[in-house]
Amino acid sequence: MTHEIRVSTGAQAQLKDITYEVQKLVNESGIKEGLAVLFVPHTTAAVTINENADPDVTIDMINGLNELIPMHNKYRHLEGNSAAHIKSSLIGASEQVIIRQGKLLLGTWQGIYFCEFDGPRTRKLQIKLIEG
Ligand code: ZN
Repeated sequence: MTHEIRVSTGAQAQLKDITYEVQKLVNESGIKEGLAVLFVPHTTAAVTINENADPDVTIDMINGLNELIPMHNKYRHLEGNSAAHIKSSLIGASEQVIIRQGKLLLGTWQGIYFCEFDGPRTRKLQIKLIEG
C-alpha cells in the first residue's frame, strides 16, 4: 500500500517533524513487522532523520546548510532557487525505516523530518509500507 500525506510548511526553510504522521499510518495499516519507505516527489525539498529532542538542532542544521550552500552564488538557473535544489539532492529524497512490533524502529533521539528548502508551500510525501 502506498500512502500520501500533505505537509504544509511555514517558512522558506524548515525541518518539520513528521514522525507522528508516519507512525499513525503504520498503526492504521496493522503492519507489525516490515519497512516504511518515504519518498519526497519534489526537487526543492527532502526527507531526513535526525534529533528531535532539542529543537535548536533543526535551526542549526538549516543555518549550517545555508553556510555551506549560499542563496546567491552565480547560479545560472533562472528560477532563482538553485540553493534549494542543491540542498534537496544533498539531503536526499528518500528514507527507509524498519517497522518492528508495530513501531517505527527509530533511535531514542531520532525523528523523521520533512525538509523544506523553498517554502512556504503545501508539499506531498509518499509512503510505501511493506509487510515482511
Ligand atoms: Zn528551480
